[in-house]
Amino acid sequence: MSDYTHILMAIDFTKSAEQILAKARDIAQRNNAKLSLLHVVEYTPPVDYANDSMISNWVVDDNEMLEQAKESLQRFSKKHNLKNVDLNVQFGRPKHVISQFVKDQQCDLVIMGSHGRHGIGLLLGSTASALLHAMPCDILTVKLEE
Ligand code: AMP
Repeated sequence: MSDYTHILMAIDFTKSAEQILAKARDIAQRNNAKLSLLHVVEYTPPVDYANDSMISNWVVDDNEMLEQAKESLQRFSKKHNLKNVDLNVQFGRPKHVISQFVKDQQCDLVIMGSHGRHGIGLLLGSTASALLHAMPCDILTVKLEE
């Protein structure tokens, strides 16, 4: 009997992604589970510190950011010869987007890094800690090599 049927790997494209993928693939294979990858494109408006406000004339093309992220995910998938893996890119805040994806797609395991860009130097990164409280399913945080 399999423990998991749909596994989600949250990918942030740091160099630890390969270590997390190895674990996600192994667990998906052993459970004969579907594997999905999700990257969340985050947009933080730049701050004009001199005037203590957001820079108002900053123009960022959301679609362009999404397209670039989709291309990165395709390249990652090709590089690692991923077959039958569902690739997803969405825009928003990682915590919210990942938990909504898990509910919508009925994932039963989330695999992510213990820390990434938001958690440098921490035992558990901010995305992982936030999700621990929000997730309706199991979470595996992969302890990353420094
Ligand atoms: P952090 O919160 O940056 O320390 O990252 C911890 C882990 O959360 C990473 O190893 C990823 O698995 C996941 N993560 C962080 N940011 C994103 C993102 N933008 N999209 C998808 N997963 C993410």
